[in-house]
Amino acid sequence: MHAFFPRHCALCAAPSLDRPLCAACDADLPRHSIPVCPICALPALDGHVCGSCLRHPPAFGHTLAAFSYGFPIDRLLQAFKYAGSLALAEALAEPLAHLAAKHPKPELLLPMPLHPARLKERGFNQALEIARPISRRLDIPLAADACRRTRDTPSQAGLKWQQRRGNVRGAFACDLDLTGKKVAILDDVMTTGSTLDELSRVLLKRGAAEVSAWVVARTLKE
Ligand SMILES: [Zn+2]
Ligand SMILES: [Zn+2]
Repeated sequence: MHAFFPRHCALCAAPSLDRPLCAACDADLPRHSIPVCPICALPALDGHVCGSCLRHPPAFGHTLAAFSYGFPIDRLLQAFKYAGSLALAEALAEPLAHLAAKHPKPELLLPMPLHPARLKERGFNQALEIARPISRRLDIPLAADACRRTRDTPSQAGLKWQQRRGNVRGAFACDLDLTGKKVAILDDVMTTGSTLDELSRVLLKRGAAEVSAWVVARTLKE
């Protein structure tokens, strides 16, 4: 039904036809278009693997980030976390799907799991809701409940890198046999990457041949 009605921009409420954002808001988004390290998606000269990834390669082999974390993506992500509107999920998913379509297709898409206590609090897993339209658009099977967060880790905010790593260690479990599979983890924001790194480790232990991190936004600096 809604296809017959003009849509409204998720940011400014201007008519946006069949798009989640109007053309003006879309043009203003902080696209992650600088040369970045292919592994961690932080700025890197000529897009080479950065020194940090050479010294301490994370368990994921590749990161795709649609945006740098900043205005107005931070607002959109916050609004989505609290309101959970489908239009916002689409607005956030679409640019990532667009970027991911230019890269090799994984065989499985895994949303970053939310601890049951957080899920109960919020009512939905934002990573899963962003993963749904991407899965549909790119025709990649979505394993919605394959992984679990077994430990309710305190917020990562304000923790140093080493602390963050310890904070998420042993926080995930996964039941899937991923032998030989190329998989991508979908998350909303990547900050240090320690949570994605920890889940990637678990997926590699389950036999995954390759793990990529797909995120809506990448924090550029702490
Ligand atoms: Zn707008
Ligand atoms: Zn790197």
